[in-house]
Amino acid sequence: MLEDSKKKRTFDAIVIGSGISGGWAAKEFTQKGLKTLVLERGRDVKHIVDYPTTMLQPWELQHRGQLPLDIRKENPVVSKCYAFHEGAAHFFVKDKEHPYIQEKPFDWIRGYQVGGKSLLWARQTQRWSRFDFEGPARDGFAVEWPIGYDDIAPWYSYVEKFVGITGNKDGIDTLPDGEFQKPHEMSCVEKYFSQKVSEKYKDRHIIIGRAAHLTDPQQIHYDQGRAQCQNRAICERGCPYGGYFSSNASTIPWAMRTGKLTLRPDSVVHSIIYDEKKGKAVGVRVVDAHTKAMTEYYADVIFVNAAAINTNLILLNSVSSRFPAGLGNDSGVLGKYVAFHNYRARVNGEFEGYLDQTTEGRRPNSGYIPRFRNVYKQETDFLRGYAAGFGANRISYNSSQGLGEALKNNLSAKKYGNWSVGSHMMGETIPKETNFVELDKNLRDPFGIPQLRISVDYDDNDEKMVRDYIAQMKEMFEMAGFTNIQAADSKQAAGLDIHEMGGARMGKDPRTSVLNGFNQMHACKNVFVTDGACMTSTSTQNPSLTYMALTARAVDYVVKERKKGNL
Ligand SMILES: Cc1cc2nc3c(=O)[nH]c(=O)nc-3n(C[C@H](O)[C@H](O)[C@H](O)COP(=O)(O)OP(=O)(O)OC[C@H]3O[C@@H](n4cnc5c(N)ncnc54)[C@H](O)[C@@H]3O)c2cc1C
Ligand code: SF4
Repeated sequence: MLEDSKKKRTFDAIVIGSGISGGWAAKEFTQKGLKTLVLERGRDVKHIVDYPTTMLQPWELQHRGQLPLDIRKENPVVSKCYAFHEGAAHFFVKDKEHPYIQEKPFDWIRGYQVGGKSLLWARQTQRWSRFDFEGPARDGFAVEWPIGYDDIAPWYSYVEKFVGITGNKDGIDTLPDGEFQKPHEMSCVEKYFSQKVSEKYKDRHIIIGRAAHLTDPQQIHYDQGRAQCQNRAICERGCPYGGYFSSNASTIPWAMRTGKLTLRPDSVVHSIIYDEKKGKAVGVRVVDAHTKAMTEYYADVIFVNAAAINTNLILLNSVSSRFPAGLGNDSGVLGKYVAFHNYRARVNGEFEGYLDQTTEGRRPNSGYIPRFRNVYKQETDFLRGYAAGFGANRISYNSSQGLGEALKNNLSAKKYGNWSVGSHMMGETIPKETNFVELDKNLRDPFGIPQLRISVDYDDNDEKMVRDYIAQMKEMFEMAGFTNIQAADSKQAAGLDIHEMGGARMGKDPRTSVLNGFNQMHACKNVFVTDGACMTSTSTQNPSLTYMALTARAVDYVVKERKKGNL
């Protein structure tokens, strides 16, 4: 009887987490015929039916999209995220529900549900370039990456075709081109700025962003049940058209259709079970989110995709006599070298040209400035560089202020001002041993799992980078004739960039890294980490496309190794 029940709880592969990377692991495993269990700590969110605000007009939302002050006060951390508003608040973790300890200020923004943060993300998808993978070795920080651009390039193509990426082939060294659908159009002032900048600087480019939106859906997207993006730009509510990529619209239903997927929401993974005799991991311990009962599930292969920081937590909490400091932690680096993106600075201004033109409708994307600092050689007093967002929109005054007659009048009396131009920085940070996460020895969460202490901060390199971004951007804005230029350093805490990475880094040497070049644990060969925790360094690009490509590549490796009888 017991054996029978154990059999029901035994799979070929277990995937922890159903967000961007876990969804990809589920799709790849099931498509390749493996019986797969996805364990997700949050509730189920079904595509379309569980997007309660997706069709609401502003006036149909109780507070017209704003969140009441008491909710914001109760949630000081998550309230800092721009997407935490009335239309999407139900997809964010509230501060008090899942406590953690901020040794240093760290805004940990989370989405616990089927789909994870794939419902909420801003969908910017840039490939890493060879300069990113070569960075640590060239500049002497962290450890050398065990892979380079050529190892991952085919996997970028593979995931891009399925996800659907809009973009332009710009032919820029620091931003390799991908498999793009029709690009979004730049506004006339964005085009003007692009031209002015390329006339003056041969290595700086203003281009349209690359984003996970279907501008020209192909059969593979219709097969997923997705359709063309309607440019509504309210994506974080969930998209009934599947216009943008999320696990919910794409990878999870795809995996489900194979008949090989068991999806178990409300299942909080406590730890991974290591069998000392077999010398490998055999399964996971799961706490039921409602009953708090603990159950074990078993598999030949385990993928940890709980998002970078929670993946560190699970691994640190997976202790055994073989691994007293956390699973696979022979090197002692598990939980260390956590890094993020430096999003502190903005530069805004106005432009008094093109006053006879404006933009029409919405565009769920913006302009992008690929990294240009320290690319071919070290040229500043800080290491690495930054990319930046750029956008130019006509200021209009048809506000939705007022009620009744006044509101109608305001809406119909559209007045235009100058163009508003703005940019924000996206800086690479250097992973350091002193930026780490660890388990608290006393405090537990509601599931009996140790709470996490997060000790992650900026350093002098980041401060210098902020100053350089502001100086360079001001220079470029002035050169283009923009006026009323204002720069701001928000000094926001680490974490609000929502690109946390590292802690279980990849590397060539098991003495200094946790994972090898296939995201496989050096010391426990049937456990793989393919979310942000695996990242050896951070680049300037948005990271999620790279997690997807690494995941598909790692699953392919697993399947080949299984055929050889190695896993
Ligand atoms: C507002 C916003 C904008 C963003 N914009 C971009 C962007 O433009 N481009 C970009 O590349 N990235 C962006 N990101 C970041 C992006 O969302 C993440 O990089 C991506 O979702 C990470 O994928 P993941 O699979 O590692 O984690 P997630 O998508 O967060 O999924 C992790 C899943 O694991 C589950 N989980 C956690 N712990 C456990 C446990 N113990 N047991 C079981 N399940 C568990 C979680 O509930 C969650 O569902 C943005 C994020 C936000 C919130
Ligand atoms: S902009 Fe596109 S992807 Fe976003 S909600 Fe609208 S239709 Fe969906």
